[in-house]
Amino acid sequence: MTSNASFAAPPWEAAAALLRAASRVLLIAHVSPDGDALGSTLALTLALRAQGKHAVPACQDQPHPRFGFLPSVHEIRQALPLGEAFDLIVALDGSDAARMGTIYQPAQHASLPLLVIDHHITNTRFGTVNLVDPSAASTAEIVFALLKRMDAPITPEIANALLTGVVTDTQAFRTSNTTPQTLAVAMELMQLGGNLQEVTRQALVLRTFDSLRLLGAGLMSAKVEDRVAYAALPQKLREELGVREERGDGGLVGMLISAYEVDIAAVFVELPNGEVEVGLRAQPGFDVAQVAFEMGGGGHPAAAGCTLPGPLREAVNRLLPRLKQAAREQR
Ligand code: 5GP
Ligand code: MN
Repeated sequence: MTSNASFAAPPWEAAAALLRAASRVLLIAHVSPDGDALGSTLALTLALRAQGKHAVPACQDQPHPRFGFLPSVHEIRQALPLGEAFDLIVALDGSDAARMGTIYQPAQHASLPLLVIDHHITNTRFGTVNLVDPSAASTAEIVFALLKRMDAPITPEIANALLTGVVTDTQAFRTSNTTPQTLAVAMELMQLGGNLQEVTRQALVLRTFDSLRLLGAGLMSAKVEDRVAYAALPQKLREELGVREERGDGGLVGMLISAYEVDIAAVFVELPNGEVEVGLRAQPGFDVAQVAFEMGGGGHPAAAGCTLPGPLREAVNRLLPRLKQAAREQR
């Protein structure tokens, strides 16, 4: 999993050269986009447009309404017009090619250079140039460093988009990936016009009342076995509660890992298509990235995920023993 490439210096110059040479750029945020995927994608989109380039942000899944405050978020396309021509693709915050989802069409895109910008330890280096830095708390920090190297002006809008990535991937500077460097980046982004309070409130605090009820039901059904907490959220439960959001766990996995009695937490979310999206969290000293990677997903030691085939019960039965084993071995 951890190839030597993860310790090599990130190829800043090669990445900058690809962007400089391009004039029509497709930017792909990963499926089920989070604040870092969206913030990074939109910040780079705006910076490229300011340089006179044609830049199209895209994502297979529609962004959650909580990200409605992000600049140009409504321009993110869920599908591309047939035959629209690009000369560069940038994949942001995704650790493997599958995370690009249906936006990436090999028949049209395989011949184009692909720039991967990411910070996941499990990144498979699927690009032509892989700007991957697992020491960065967010992909947004990498985009920020790249833009500065390219002397691209950072407008308040771009700063706010980047700050969103930093704030969401660190849960407002609370997670173990937060370093002095992360705080220095956040300080700079605030000085450039990013609004920390507003970003935190919009992207992390505000939620629908429905999602609170989903969280409540999930907490009531959760179990702890061998210091592994887990819960399953069937589509049927969403229907019963009248939850309009088709995906997501309402923050449940983050709640489960907060219990003293828990080393590893897992939430299994049944998707409308029957697949199961799994969110994983680990206490410091435990690692869920490796298990997620083995299951075809990826992530960070403390927060990872994967998507498994249904049905829901089988996904739980398949992963749970593996999680208990990991918790036992790492204790
Ligand atoms: P979350 O539980 O917040 O959705 O995801 C936690 C971390 O795991 C994020 O960094 C996310 O990108 C990664 N992750 C979640 N699901 C998947 C997946 O299906 N595949 C991969 N490669 N990474 C995932
Ligand atoms: Mn990220």
